[in-house]
Amino acid sequence: MAITLPELPYAQDALEPHISANTLSFHYGKHHNTYVVNLNKLIEGTELEEKSLEDIIQASAGDSSKQGIFNNAAQVWNHTFYWHSMSPNGGGVPNGTLAEKINEAFGSLEKFKEDFAAAGATQFGSGWAWLVVDANGKLAIRKTANAETPLTGSDTPLITMDVWEHAYYLDYQNARPKYIETFLNSLINWDFAAKNLASA
Ligand code: MN
Repeated sequence: MAITLPELPYAQDALEPHISANTLSFHYGKHHNTYVVNLNKLIEGTELEEKSLEDIIQASAGDSSKQGIFNNAAQVWNHTFYWHSMSPNGGGVPNGTLAEKINEAFGSLEKFKEDFAAAGATQFGSGWAWLVVDANGKLAIRKTANAETPLTGSDTPLITMDVWEHAYYLDYQNARPKYIETFLNSLINWDFAAKNLASA
């Protein structure tokens, strides 16, 4: 059972003008695909070959002899989650329980955006910013380095934003804060976050 590259949930030009088809052709078609190809090479003939992607992540996390497997597996998972964290009809405001929990945790949607933007902007080098629900059912913002993912801890991710340069460089060059602002105002998929919260 090889790991496969999941379909993008929209066309490669569907996020324009915010994220170009050119960016998605590299980010999905090259970067994400390469993690899938590398992972399959690394698990071929090992005890992980028949495992699910989630099980491979858990089995390799924190094991320095399996660092390459963890990096590629977590990056496959993180990217699939990221594509769903954005929508051609994204942005706007959350509603229902999600909106209530955002207000409870951060005070307001604006304060959430401010804190999430700060997390993304201050993740030094490559990594991810996350909106999660923690073990106590409270929403929180996390940032992770490189391939690290909340899946290996007690948080349940609701949304992620890729802040590796390859996510934004073709469209925004070095202006990571501008990409983050666009993500929060025009791309974030609140329906996906609400669905993840409901099943957390
Ligand atoms: Mn990426």
